[in-house]
Formats: sequence, structure tokens, C-alpha cells
Amino acid sequence: MAGDLFGGLGGLMKGLSSFMPQDDPAVKLLNVQTEVSQLKSDEQAVLAEIGQAALDTYGIESFGEKGEKLLYIRKSLESASQKLNQAKTEKEEVEAQKKKQDAERTCPECGTLNPEGTRFCQECGARLGAKEKRICPECGGQVEDGIRFCGECGHRMEE
Ligand SMILES: [Zn+2]
Ligand SMILES: [Zn+2]
Repeated sequence: MAGDLFGGLGGLMKGLSSFMPQDDPAVKLLNVQTEVSQLKSDEQAVLAEIGQAALDTYGIESFGEKGEKLLYIRKSLESASQKLNQAKTEKEEVEAQKKKQDAERTCPECGTLNPEGTRFCQECGARLGAKEKRICPECGGQVEDGIRFCGECGHRMEE
């Protein structure tokens, strides 16, 4: 629960401040600030639990304007969450697209990342966006995808 989290944080702060002189006003301030914010967040957590219990017992309609406000917030939260998911998906799509483009611009021979629109590697002249290569099971030579016979040994490549 949140209480444990803040308890842990408080313990950490106490651990850190124990290296500093305890009568230092700055240390005292830090300790008291930590204690106050810890208690405040504990208070909020318990208030939320009480609120939830009251909602469960009396129903949201019993809370008039505040109940309506809560319903409105929940509705907004729902649509905001949907927007969040949508934005995440869009970001992932853009990143996947960029990764694909980067892969196409990366030289299969020397690994150089070339500028957009380049068809030949600026470093070694190899053709970019080359088809994936397969390994000939017969001689171990590299055979471009779509080529039916190994150029080294004539082995028929499986489709
Ligand atoms: Zn290259
Ligand atoms: Zn071969």
C-alpha cells in the first residue's frame, strides 16, 4: 500500500540524514518536511478508502453535486485513457515505421546508416534495401532471397 511506500521513503531519508549532524537546522527541516508529507499522503489514502466505502454503502446518487462531479471525472478519465492508448499506438507505429526505414537505409555490406532517399551506400557503394540473404545449405555461400540457384555451387534453393 501507499503507506508502506512512503514509510520506505521516509526510512531512506532518515538513513541519509543520519550521516549529517542532527542539530543542523537544514536536517531538522528536511526530517520534519518528510514526516509531514508522509502523514499527509497517509491521510489522503485513508480518506480515499473511507470515500470508497461510503460510495459502496450509499451509492453515488446520495452524494449530489460531488457524486456528479465524480461521475464526470470518471467519464473524462475513461476517454483520456482511450486517447492515451491511441497516442501510444500511434507512437509505436511511427517508431516501427522509422525502424523499418532505418533498416532500409542501413548498408547490408558495411552497416553504414545512409541519408533518406539514398539508393547506394555512401560509404561502400553497395545497393541499399537489398533483399535478405539466405545461406546456401550446400556451400555456405550467401544467396539473395528470390534467387533460385546458388551462384557459387548451383544448389537449388528452396522457396
Ligand atoms: Zn556500405
Ligand atoms: Zn551454394
